[in-house]
Amino acid sequence: MPFVSPGTGWPEDPATPETPVAHKPQDVMELAESAPDLAELCARQSVCRACDRLVEWREKVALERRRAFADEEYWGRPIAGWGDPEPRILLVGLAPAAHGGNRTGRVFTGDRSGDWLFASLHRVGLASQATSVRAGDGQHLIGTRLVATVRCAPPDNKPTTTERATCLPWLNREMAMIAPSVRCIVALGGYAWQSVWPVLKTVGYELPRPRPAFGHGAEVRMTSPGGDPVVMLGTYHPSQQNTFTGRLTEAMLDDVLGRAATYL
Ligand code: SF4
Repeated sequence: MPFVSPGTGWPEDPATPETPVAHKPQDVMELAESAPDLAELCARQSVCRACDRLVEWREKVALERRRAFADEEYWGRPIAGWGDPEPRILLVGLAPAAHGGNRTGRVFTGDRSGDWLFASLHRVGLASQATSVRAGDGQHLIGTRLVATVRCAPPDNKPTTTERATCLPWLNREMAMIAPSVRCIVALGGYAWQSVWPVLKTVGYELPRPRPAFGHGAEVRMTSPGGDPVVMLGTYHPSQQNTFTGRLTEAMLDDVLGRAATYL
């Protein structure tokens, strides 16, 4: 199989064989809107097949595998939101990595970016362990939730505009469900910063105009749909491109995530 069948014992698999599957963009809208709770929403996210190109790519990668992981079964499915179901802090990334989340089934898990991110989350008190290696490794987030704006690994890490739009209802609905508790949003990179803005608008946040520019350490104040003050922070993405070159250091990442941790 090019993917893990739902409900067959993969640790933290949110879905079952009965979870309804989205096969086209309209299905994503309807299934996201009709999900009765966050657990079912995540289950539906994790079996989605609405983007032909991304389904083909994630399953091809899962079958071919990287040599270092040749003996491992790959998840090969979308990566659902993960972490505290009533978070104070929400971290938003762009999309899972082909041999990271697409292999392990957990967002930012099993790749170098995730290694950096989880080490920092642990240092500032938002993750129980310094590493996130695989689903079922005992890692858990503290008052924090982690989501990707596009749930499937895209070729070259570049989802198309259509794919981003198709996936958006999953995030819109997840954001609406967790908005009552969220007090701080962290955008991991400029793409996430841009992508989350229309989601916040759709969900009913009061946002400053014009949209503030992304930058490392950028901070924006807004109001949640329930009238609570919310802060959005920006950090450079912990990609190897940034961490190898020193554009993003551990101290810089700890600084932003440490500021987020004050909202716990
Ligand atoms: S990117 Fe999103 S909408 Fe497209 S197949 Fe994956 S989960 Fe479904």
